[in-house]
Amino acid sequence: SRVPFVVANWKINKLHADVADFLNKVNGKVPAQNIVETGIAAQDLFLSDMVRATADSPIHIVAENVHWEDSGAYTGETSPKALKDIGATYVLIGHFERRKFFNETDSTVNLKVTAALRNGLRPIIDVDEDMSTYAQFMDAEPSVAQVAAALAGVSVDQIRNVTLAYEPTWAIGSGEAASAVQAQKAAHLIRQTLAKLYSPVIAEQVRVLYGGSVTPDNAREIMLQKDIDGVLVGTSALDPEKFLQLVAIA
Ligand code: 13P
Repeated sequence: SRVPFVVANWKINKLHADVADFLNKVNGKVPAQNIVETGIAAQDLFLSDMVRATADSPIHIVAENVHWEDSGAYTGETSPKALKDIGATYVLIGHFERRKFFNETDSTVNLKVTAALRNGLRPIIDVDEDMSTYAQFMDAEPSVAQVAAALAGVSVDQIRNVTLAYEPTWAIGSGEAASAVQAQKAAHLIRQTLAKLYSPVIAEQVRVLYGGSVTPDNAREIMLQKDIDGVLVGTSALDPEKFLQLVAIA
């Protein structure tokens, strides 16, 4: 009953003309959102244009980060209230690249999640590995601590608007995706964590995505897994044809 979700994360990879070109190529080719939900995350400066360009399309426009205050003297940050105001619907929070390069912590992730929900934005919360099992490398578990910290104070009503995404650090941009079995195991652990934090019923309602070197070649097997509801895709989703293939697979 969970609707599959395919999210492109462009990071900082496109220029203005590329964005328009991509949207022209996919507009009209994406199914209704009760069949599969689609989103594209891009740099803030393109989001307004993207909202306008997808006005007749079910594609959701996604921010890649957000500040935790609605307004005020925070030079260089993006207000969650402003994101909602321009028509963004989702926001990525806690991506590994933000944790690694920009000092994102469990506590700032939690502040951002609460700020997004307060403003009617739906967070897609990224978690990576549990460092205590990291020695096992390709078989590390997702960080239950990151999941719990991100969701502190998130109510039973709000959790329905949350999506979680497991992105193992070694799989991001490496061409080395997790196996479908590894991805399923990780998604299952995240769902068990949700069951403990909320309830088994709610755990079955929240979407869990896999991200890290997803391609049209490996997406089918990954998305067939019981606990995986979709994919968060960087490199492959820069290409409109591949993005449409991924959506068709979902
Ligand atoms: P790649 O698909 O390029 O591995 O990136 C994954 C990612 O970080 C999506 O958020």
